[in-house]
Amino acid sequence: MHMHNTKHLIQKGKLYTLKQSSEEQIEEVSSKILQETETEKEKESILCRNCKNEITTAEFITAFNGQHAHIFKNPAGLTFHIGCFSRAWGCIVYGIPTYEYTWFAGFSWSVALCSNCLTHLGWHYQSGGNSFFGLILANLVKDSKTH
Ligand SMILES: [Zn+2]
Repeated sequence: MHMHNTKHLIQKGKLYTLKQSSEEQIEEVSSKILQETETEKEKESILCRNCKNEITTAEFITAFNGQHAHIFKNPAGLTFHIGCFSRAWGCIVYGIPTYEYTWFAGFSWSVALCSNCLTHLGWHYQSGGNSFFGLILANLVKDSKTH
């Protein structure tokens, strides 16, 4: 391996390093995704766990406030572990965007469903020209066979 490539990978890894979190479970889930992001050259598909529809790829894993994975509780008391993705073409965005109970300050949200089986996969967040998907990690699965 060339020195240049090694250095590049290390720098890339740093970009995705998660901050210390007391929530070990979510670190485990997200670090699994992130590790494979580095080794699989970011081509790995991320699928709907229910129907295996391609939702996005590891290439579009992104971070909000420096963190890819976030844990939130909705007003009904349910806890969600979500990961941020800049694009998710396997989702359809449903409903009128609202700021009510938003988890990301300044961002409105609407519901994101699997375009194939309509499973609730998370939310689409929008603020001005910025938008991203916050997807429920437990409802996604990685495709290790293709690519
Ligand atoms: Zn689906």
